[in-house]
Amino acid sequence: MYDEAIKIGWKKKGRFMDTVKTLLPEGGNLDMCLTCGACTSGCPATGLEGLDPRKVLRMAALGMDEELLASNWPWMCTMCQRCIYVCPMKIDIPQLVFNLRSCRPRDQRPKGILGSCDMALRSDTCSAMGASEEDWRFVVEDVAEEVRQTQAGFENLQAPMDKEGAYFYLNQNSREPVTEPDEMIPLWKILNTVEADWTYGSKGWAAENYCLFLADNESWEHIIRVKAKAVDDLGCKVWLNTE
Ligand code: SF4
Ligand code: SF4
Repeated sequence: MYDEAIKIGWKKKGRFMDTVKTLLPEGGNLDMCLTCGACTSGCPATGLEGLDPRKVLRMAALGMDEELLASNWPWMCTMCQRCIYVCPMKIDIPQLVFNLRSCRPRDQRPKGILGSCDMALRSDTCSAMGASEEDWRFVVEDVAEEVRQTQAGFENLQAPMDKEGAYFYLNQNSREPVTEPDEMIPLWKILNTVEADWTYGSKGWAAENYCLFLADNESWEHIIRVKAKAVDDLGCKVWLNTE
């Protein structure tokens, strides 16, 4: 979209200018961006519709708010934070991306992310796939039983559910029980082999959180609170988040 070099010379004050300043190390200014391109070279989204994280930062700094908000770039970032790790100045580009996302009206954000967040808000499973407690319990019990019946050495394999006081509370991306239930088995085998004291929960078990990617702070917090409560209610010590 913005394949051309940004032309400097028509600098204007944009609302993201102040945001950019807060993303810099203490006392920093934009001259601290060395335009070294380390962020760009390590970014998995670089090149998608001309995306370049260095350019996003520069556009915000130049007050090109309208162009940034109209582009799809903010929605292509995976929030992986690689750019921060490689940046010699530790500039927090994903935070800028998050701020850009939150400026778009909620109902105009990408439908896939929006629908997944809304689905997760519908029940205490927090499943973006809409999997219910009953579905989840059934799949876990069914797959575990099949392993016990068919796989030598795992006749006693357990996949505990709502085990109070277990040390580890394990969650699971709900895509797995819904579409690829066998993918849950390897982790069960590891946990059983090392005799870990673990459990799934019937509530708050879905690991994904699309409300984060939607930049919907209120819904994001709600999902986290439901999940954290599920861990606390079972009295588990450690929350193993697989996402
Ligand atoms: S890695 Fe940091 S200093 Fe280098 S271009 Fe990117 S934001 Fe600027
Ligand atoms: S956080 Fe976003 S901008 Fe930074 S490297 Fe990951 S995808 Fe690229």
